[in-house]
Amino acid sequence: MIISKTREEIEIMRESALIVSKTLGMIAAEIKPGVTTLELDQKAEEFIRDHGAVPGFKGLYGCPSTLLTSVNEQVVHGLPTNKPIEEGDIVSVDCGALKNEYYGDHAYTFEVGEVAEETRKLLQVTKESLYVGIREFKMGNRVGDVGSAIQKYTEAHGYGVVRDLVGHGLGKKMHEEPNMPNYGKRGWGKKFVEGMVVAIEPMINMGTKNIKQLKDGWTIVTRDGKPSAHFEHDVALVDGKPELLSTFAYVYQALGIESDEENEFRATPFVI
Ligand code: MG
Ligand code: MG
Repeated sequence: MIISKTREEIEIMRESALIVSKTLGMIAAEIKPGVTTLELDQKAEEFIRDHGAVPGFKGLYGCPSTLLTSVNEQVVHGLPTNKPIEEGDIVSVDCGALKNEYYGDHAYTFEVGEVAEETRKLLQVTKESLYVGIREFKMGNRVGDVGSAIQKYTEAHGYGVVRDLVGHGLGKKMHEEPNMPNYGKRGWGKKFVEGMVVAIEPMINMGTKNIKQLKDGWTIVTRDGKPSAHFEHDVALVDGKPELLSTFAYVYQALGIESDEENEFRATPFVI
């Protein structure tokens, strides 16, 4: 069953989402060659607790960490390690926070130093596909409208759309109904309802869509060893339209990037 949220609940969820957004902004400033994902994980936990929240992933399904950090061919669910990040790496950082009983869950793939042009393109297209998907999250549409839009957009670039992992409803539980696949058919699946909140999160591979899990029981990697990207936003359906609860504004501030990409999904532009 899809659990609709009241306006009040959506505002509470916005707070949780923004704590994650700020955490990703902090990570953006810290991530560089020589830093380990374990160091980032410790900083993230401290940051989240300083903001009156608790890490959303830690302890959930036995997850040992605050962040899931997926480097290069790692798709998602990478566990932080003491291996230093290297120049040219891409690192997908997925983060959750729980405050006032509601979850935020949001992710960004970072470029570390100079990244290969074809990899930068993968990141750009994956992020664009996130907004292509969000645009379809509106009254009258269904789960398959979001998925098929993301699939069509990314496959047009020759990329592989991960099938086994999907976006999801979000609320008092990290994973609520409905599942939000990044593939599908127009008009397929559950109908969207006012007040629902979802995490839309394309996981897009440069090569094959096929993945496997490493022996650590967590880390998902591409079968062909090619890079993978992951971007995720928390979105509420308000007045029949998608409204962003999370923001990349803190990441962009840290990286010195100017962007108005989120403005169409807000009543007023987000100001830090
Ligand atoms: Mg996530
Ligand atoms: Mg998620």
